[in-house]
Amino acid sequence: MKERRQDPFRVQQEPRLGNRLMRALVVSSGAALLIAGLIFDGFVYLSLRGAMVEDLTMQARIAADNTSAAVLFDDPLAAAQTLDALRASRAILHADLHDANGRVIARYGTPEEHAPLDAAAPISNESGHTVAGDRIYVTQLVQEAGRTVGSLHIVATLGPLYRRVAIHVAMTVFATGVAFAFAFVLAIRIRRDIDATEARLDYLAYYDAVTGLLNRRAANQQIQRLIDTMGHHEGFALVLVDLDDFKTVNDTLGHACGDELLRKFAARLKHHMRPADVAFRLGGDEFLILAPRLSGHGPLQALGQAAQQALEAPIAVAGHEIRVRASMGIAQFPRDAVDAASLVRAADIAMYDAKSQGKNTFTVFHPDMERDARQRMRLDADLRLALERDELHLVYQPIIDLKQRRMVGVEALLRWRHPELGLVMPGEFIALAERSGIIVDIGQWVLHTACRQVKAWADSGHPGFYVAVNVSARQIRRGLRGQIDSALASSGADPRSLEIEITEHSMVEDIQSNVAQLALLSALGVGVAVDDFGTGLSSLAYLKRLPINKLKIDRTFVKDVPSEGDDGAIALAIVSMSRSLGLTVVAEGVETEAQQDFFSRHGCDCAQGFLYSRPVEPEAIAELLQRHAAPGPVWPQPRQVARVPASSLESS
Ligand code: C2E
Ligand code: MG
Ligand code: MG
Repeated sequence: MKERRQDPFRVQQEPRLGNRLMRALVVSSGAALLIAGLIFDGFVYLSLRGAMVEDLTMQARIAADNTSAAVLFDDPLAAAQTLDALRASRAILHADLHDANGRVIARYGTPEEHAPLDAAAPISNESGHTVAGDRIYVTQLVQEAGRTVGSLHIVATLGPLYRRVAIHVAMTVFATGVAFAFAFVLAIRIRRDIDATEARLDYLAYYDAVTGLLNRRAANQQIQRLIDTMGHHEGFALVLVDLDDFKTVNDTLGHACGDELLRKFAARLKHHMRPADVAFRLGGDEFLILAPRLSGHGPLQALGQAAQQALEAPIAVAGHEIRVRASMGIAQFPRDAVDAASLVRAADIAMYDAKSQGKNTFTVFHPDMERDARQRMRLDADLRLALERDELHLVYQPIIDLKQRRMVGVEALLRWRHPELGLVMPGEFIALAERSGIIVDIGQWVLHTACRQVKAWADSGHPGFYVAVNVSARQIRRGLRGQIDSALASSGADPRSLEIEITEHSMVEDIQSNVAQLALLSALGVGVAVDDFGTGLSSLAYLKRLPINKLKIDRTFVKDVPSEGDDGAIALAIVSMSRSLGLTVVAEGVETEAQQDFFSRHGCDCAQGFLYSRPVEPEAIAELLQRHAAPGPVWPQPRQVARVPASSLESS
């Protein structure tokens, strides 16, 4: 939460309706309570007044009955004594007893006191009552034997009633006020709780819980805000940072270590940024740096270099020193795109370019990259149809036993004959196929085709010969055993004539599950080789645990052999390590006799490379196998390979 206050880019939050709603609720319920109370008070007033009128009428009737004789006999004294009983009612101000001619016979109280008010007092000729102002006028006819002999007029005050009702109203207002204050305090407390919860939700909505950086949603909002506020006059830049091989760290050291690495990396990134720049975690191992007011080649390079500096020193996680590498793509507004989505896409394209350049580098977006990306998208779409249209085929490259100088097997390598682009090499489409998942279907096709082919070679008199097939990490995740069983069963090939090549990178990606799966294959008799060895993160400890029987030294370490240098030393170390672990070792990409001699001399078992043959059509392999019918080395002199028909060789 503290982070948010320091954040130079304030996250724009939705306007809070809650506060206003709560206030409106408290005020309106207070008002409703008050209105209900007042209505009730009105009702109380009316019913009290009704009761009072009833009471007065009753008293008037009793007094009239009691004075009828006095009126009849014109006895004012007796009449006055009877009227005096009205004193019992405090509301009665005075009363006049008239005879039939309207003459006052007796009187209770002093009408003069109230004269100004009662001057207009209605003198009725009928029994009944009238209310005017705070007075009630009651008239009761005095009757004797059914004949009217006079009338009694009582004037009463509503004052006490009004006072009572006023007290009621005051109580109502007071009670409402107390209830209102109570509700208000309660509402403030609830509001505070809701505010805290809302703040937490805001945090979760805009911040990444692992690193505390702003998240993808906040990034989109901020990019849009920068575009809106800066217009096209002032530029800014985006750096998309994707950690290379993060998944390996996660899988080998566990998720807690993975999270710690992300946290420490985020802190590093912030440390190396300019104060005005903001870092976001978009998810997984993807980060974004937003650098306002930045444009031009120099500052962009500086930005990329600063981000790279963040990765220079290894990061310590749970006792391990981890060297984090990242691929970064930089895009600029408004040069590369003028809307948020296209800008992020441009940075993504640049990042993809950085990855394809061998990772751990940064690339500034260039419009040509967009074209490449489009080409990739097109290939991706076409690849889905390639299998159906029968555009894929396999070529085979011999693997030579260095002692006997004979071909012991071949590696099956995939080729795509694109109807418009011509021959497309696996380097251009395997990664795409892995991303889209189509590699699973393609891999299945490769396994079936290679197994059928090796069975055909076995049937033509070369039973010990094997075919090595490359499989991708995604295929392994799908369950390799089922795919291989099906390929072996449908082709009838011997399991021992099949070898699986898994790159070191794929191997360590999900080591636990890979070990289990490969053990099943070994049990079948299928060979397992680790491809491109030396480029991944394998340690000796891992190698010992893996159910494998072969290592293929990556071409990069073979290239500079035999000149003295690190690569030669690594190649030799791999050879001696393989021997001590009892693994067969193959040198890949042997192009010169000097390389061949070097590996031969140091005890490397096999070699593969253009020195012997480029990957060729199966017919050319069959022809080579024919030469195996004769005893002795097939490759006494490497140059004899020229005998492979030129038509079946790849032009590459
Ligand atoms: P890889 O498995 O390491 O295959 C060896 C690559 O090195 C092949 O490239 C081969 O043509 C090339 N090569 C062999 N000898 C030499 C040499 O002397 N010099 C040079 N410069 N190159 C040499 P290719 O056929 O382009 O295949 C590239 C990669 O594509 C393969 O590397 C493999 O990882 C992948 N791949 C090929 N076919 C398949 C497949 O069916 N499935 C999967 N998953 N991956 C495949
Ligand atoms: Mg291979
Ligand atoms: Mg290889």
